Amino acid sequence: MAKFKEAEARLLNKKVCMNCSATNSIRATRCRKCGYTKLRVKAKEIRKA
Ligand SMILES: [Zn+2]
Repeated sequence: MAKFKEAEARLLNKKVCMNCSATNSIRATRCRKCGYTKLRVKAKEIRKA
């Protein structure tokens, strides 16, 4: 279970591009791949907000 938790925590620190689905740094303001500015935080974080 420990490994799963680690993976989960890592996912929460990423943003996903809504255009190309690339993962970006949580601090990114635009996609590093396509430059799209609409990034969403992965899964659980978005439900809190
Ligand atoms: Zn993108």
